[in-house]
Amino acid sequence: MRPTVPGEPDGPAAVDLLLAGTGAAGLSLLDALARHGVTGLRLLVVDPVDRLHAHPWDRTWCFWSKRTPAHLQKAMVASWRIAEIAAPDGAGNRLDLDPYRYHMLTADAYARLVARRVARAEAELGWHVETLVDGVRHIVDGPDAATATTESGERLTASWVFDSRPRPPTRARTTLLQHFRGHLVRTRQPRFDAERILLMDFSVPQPDRGVAFGYCLPTDAHTALVEYTVFSAQECTEPEYDEHIRDYRTRLGLAPQDDQDTTTAHVEHGVIPMTDGRFDPHPGHRVIRIGAAAGATRGSTGYTFAAVTRQTDVVAGLLAAGATPRVPDAYPRRHRVLDAIMLRALADGRLAGAPFFTRLWQANPPVRVLEFLQGTSTPRQEAAVIGTCPSLAMLGAAASLFTAGNPLSRPGI
Ligand SMILES: Cc1cc2nc3c(=O)[nH]c(=O)nc-3n(C[C@H](O)[C@H](O)[C@H](O)COP(=O)(O)OP(=O)(O)OC[C@H]3O[C@@H](n4cnc5c(N)ncnc54)[C@H](O)[C@@H]3O)c2cc1C
Repeated sequence: MRPTVPGEPDGPAAVDLLLAGTGAAGLSLLDALARHGVTGLRLLVVDPVDRLHAHPWDRTWCFWSKRTPAHLQKAMVASWRIAEIAAPDGAGNRLDLDPYRYHMLTADAYARLVARRVARAEAELGWHVETLVDGVRHIVDGPDAATATTESGERLTASWVFDSRPRPPTRARTTLLQHFRGHLVRTRQPRFDAERILLMDFSVPQPDRGVAFGYCLPTDAHTALVEYTVFSAQECTEPEYDEHIRDYRTRLGLAPQDDQDTTTAHVEHGVIPMTDGRFDPHPGHRVIRIGAAAGATRGSTGYTFAAVTRQTDVVAGLLAAGATPRVPDAYPRRHRVLDAIMLRALADGRLAGAPFFTRLWQANPPVRVLEFLQGTSTPRQEAAVIGTCPSLAMLGAAASLFTAGNPLSRPGI
């Protein structure tokens, strides 16, 4: 994949918007454009995976919000108010997340929902949507239009190209990987309390540097998504992932059984880069990046989905008003600075991840932690969160970032 390059696009735009990528960000933009009632759009959707029609379930998105967003309701699998954090010694800490709820939706359900909304927009808002199952190889930007060239050599010109193809950041000083293996577990007997989740269980074996945790999200008495997650520099091998998730399921009493009482209905695997690098949402006049490619992934947590929906809502609102679309910063700059310090402290082993995250949840009210992690906290809340962090480890990490380049003076974080 080549980046956006300056040059001459191929004449006038054949469509208004071209979406390069229809993962969370592309789907969310389509959804937001329909909700904002933008009329008469000519849209071209280009992705090697035909998500609007094939609806693959390759990931589950969790996020939290005060109210259940009405437009996502129909794709929601579950929402919870009560969560538990388990310390490294296994001691549980029950959290009431109120007024927040922790939500789960699946990629296939969301794609189906957006496909229905797109069909309705075609009927009621005069949209014309074409899908091309192909990859965008590169994009040429111009003052009035941009041209995308696909892997099969097609050249497609649009007034605006929204690019959510995965891309690496620039100027990263620390990058960890959040990598995980999850099983959707089904049991014949009722085994789960669907009113509460085990949000982070740090009583699992820990890596030398970074952190590992398990979680268990029951959606009904017979079904739960159980995952084993690691933040570390390197991915595990396949046998290691299998062993970790098997061990974790065994600890929860959910090992697969010969009598088929406990089965695996679905396997989820993911790798999310957690970085202090920079993502530029505006690489050209007519090319706009959205999603993880525009910095929507929170460096310290890997959570992305809520920031994606915030970005696309703003962009759709601007397009609906006939204004030039601009992507807002996914997170305030001071949060990105704190993320950079925490990532560095975790990566260089100064910070023991499991006790750190356990204490974060123990020493702060859940609302403060949730708002901090979401990037919506006030400076006062942030000062309180910082007060509960191990100061020596954080100062050491900040000093090491300063010697690598001042984290506060760089626009990149
Ligand atoms: C398994 C998994 C679970 C996750 N769970 C959560 C979660 O619970 N909560 C949360 O907040 N975040 C989660 N994330 C992180 C993040 O929300 C997702 O990665 C999210 O899908 C990012 O959205 P995106 O649109 O930026 O990228 P993607 O959803 O990855 O979409 C990128 C799209 O670009 C397409 N594409 C690739 N190459 C090309 C090309 N050359 N041309 C055109 N299209 C191309 C891909 O096929 C894909 O459809 C998860 C990530 C993974 C991998």
